Amino acid sequence: MSLKVYRSKRNFSATPEPKGEQRESGSSRGLLYIIQKHQATALHYDFRLEWQGVLLSWAVPKGPSLDPSVKRLAMQTEDHPLEYGGFEGVIPEPGYGAGTVMLWDRGTWKPEDPNVAKSLRSGELKFSLFGKKLRGSWVLVRTKNGYGSAAGKPAWLLIKHRDQFASQSDVLTAEPRSVKSKRLLAEIAEKGHGNVAKAAKGDPPGGGPKS
Ligand code: MN
Repeated sequence: MSLKVYRSKRNFSATPEPKGEQRESGSSRGLLYIIQKHQATALHYDFRLEWQGVLLSWAVPKGPSLDPSVKRLAMQTEDHPLEYGGFEGVIPEPGYGAGTVMLWDRGTWKPEDPNVAKSLRSGELKFSLFGKKLRGSWVLVRTKNGYGSAAGKPAWLLIKHRDQFASQSDVLTAEPRSVKSKRLLAEIAEKGHGNVAKAAKGDPPGGGPKS
């Protein structure tokens, strides 16, 4: 696990994103889980799990679904620093990932098998989420073509397991606001002097339910 790729893509004198220091993990607070809703060139949800001092990361274009019959594509991306778990704001143009980032969900996670390295190698990571919006049992499964894809990024599927937290309701539209600030993307963009019109494309029409 390394932050080399993460750092090589960013100019830290131009972006407010953290540079990141490697830190020990496995503290008593549990392993960090976060999802950042990111309106960049295209809207996606960045799914991140703390492991060995960094945040393992996947970009989920359609976002997570609580419906166990729905499989959501999750493109693995570079490891991110743990401090990224607190980041919400605007990544300035023309930097990597330029756009608006919302801290959409936050909590902890627990792997079903403590040997996470083995699960990642085998391409099946089962875990529980203890977030504000996502809870219960989930799995990430690497697709058969997961390696050697055109983009060079392993493709996985994020799937909800059947349990009391499974649901047919659309959590993305029901709970569109930041878990940190209760703001919508457009409000985060406005405060951060970002592109408000672009950010608003990621918010539900009319701003969705108030919370
Ligand atoms: Mn992203």
